[in-house]
Amino acid sequence: KLHNTILELKGNIRVFCRVRPVLPDNDSSGTDGAVVSYPTSMETAGRGIDLMHSTAQKYSFTFDKVFNHEASQEDVFFEISQLVQSALDGYKVCIFAYGQTGSGKTFTMMGNPEIREQKGLIPRSLEQVFETSQSLQCQGWKYKMQASMLEIYNEAIRDLLSPGRPSSLEANAAVNKQYSIKHDSGGNTIVSDLTIVDVCSIKEVSFLLQQAAQSRSVGRTHMNEQSSRSHFVFTLRIFGVNESTEQQVQGVLNLIDLAGSERLARSGATGDRLKETQAINKSLSALSDVIAAIAKKEDHVPFRNSKLTYLLQPCLGGDSKTLMFVNISPESSSAGESICSLRFAARVN
Ligand code: ADP
Ligand code: MG
Repeated sequence: KLHNTILELKGNIRVFCRVRPVLPDNDSSGTDGAVVSYPTSMETAGRGIDLMHSTAQKYSFTFDKVFNHEASQEDVFFEISQLVQSALDGYKVCIFAYGQTGSGKTFTMMGNPEIREQKGLIPRSLEQVFETSQSLQCQGWKYKMQASMLEIYNEAIRDLLSPGRPSSLEANAAVNKQYSIKHDSGGNTIVSDLTIVDVCSIKEVSFLLQQAAQSRSVGRTHMNEQSSRSHFVFTLRIFGVNESTEQQVQGVLNLIDLAGSERLARSGATGDRLKETQAINKSLSALSDVIAAIAKKEDHVPFRNSKLTYLLQPCLGGDSKTLMFVNISPESSSAGESICSLRFAARVN
């Protein structure tokens, strides 16, 4: 089956919007969900989204795809599975989740791996990669996969798979010298000292994902809700060799759960919190600048303005493929943030 969205190549950058349902435990629900509407009649996915702000002003946006609150994890994965396949075909792929804290980024990326229907696109992508690579064996293809997982907090990288006791974010920030980022002539990113693990099965990667999640939570015992303050980057490098044709492919699949995009004023931040927010704002606007420059085919793409964009440089632009999810909270109390998120996404679209 051909996926229309994937064929609609627009400089290889696509933007999907996903609106999460009103959560059952949300007191302020009620008629709240009406803040978001979809201009065209759609089942679970269309292309347009309208947002009403309290001033009764209507904001309309169009994206490559808009998933409403009823879209299942399977519906969403259906639209990206072709992109995951590209990584097996030798492309460099980045899939980002952008949005304010609580908008459904982690649900979209990771979901609940224990419950079948709630699995997010990281576990689903990995299942597809391993299943497909296996089925390609009979055509002579042999694949080798390597996984790494890191987070970027306050512009410092933290290895989430480092052996031994996970270091705290603060301790890591103090030894920021390690984990320096380089690019080799072959278009590969090399992060010094970063743990890279050979993985042969979905079981092995699942174990690593658990380890990474644990490592993330250990590192943040001293600060609250850290996961929303750092970018999580999962990287799967895919090496394929066809033993009969001697063809070789090298693909990369980067799946990125970005830090919460909420604005500075709202978080009322001071001190460390202010520094955190500034680092997040800086890296998210750097990402927006980079993607916008690539989309406009500008000569200069400012990759070096943040750790995240510099890390992903070889996987952004060129013939690589980028997909940005913009996650939206449906509550009217989030309308201001939602408009900011949609504007961000419209800029890179
Ligand atoms: P974020 O990572 O952007 O901070 P989460 O992914 O943690 O947000 O989502 C916030 C809450 O909403 C979580 O409890 C999550 O399970 C729930 N949620 C998010 N998206 C959906 C969805 N599409 N369907 C059901 N629950 C969702
Ligand atoms: Mg999250």
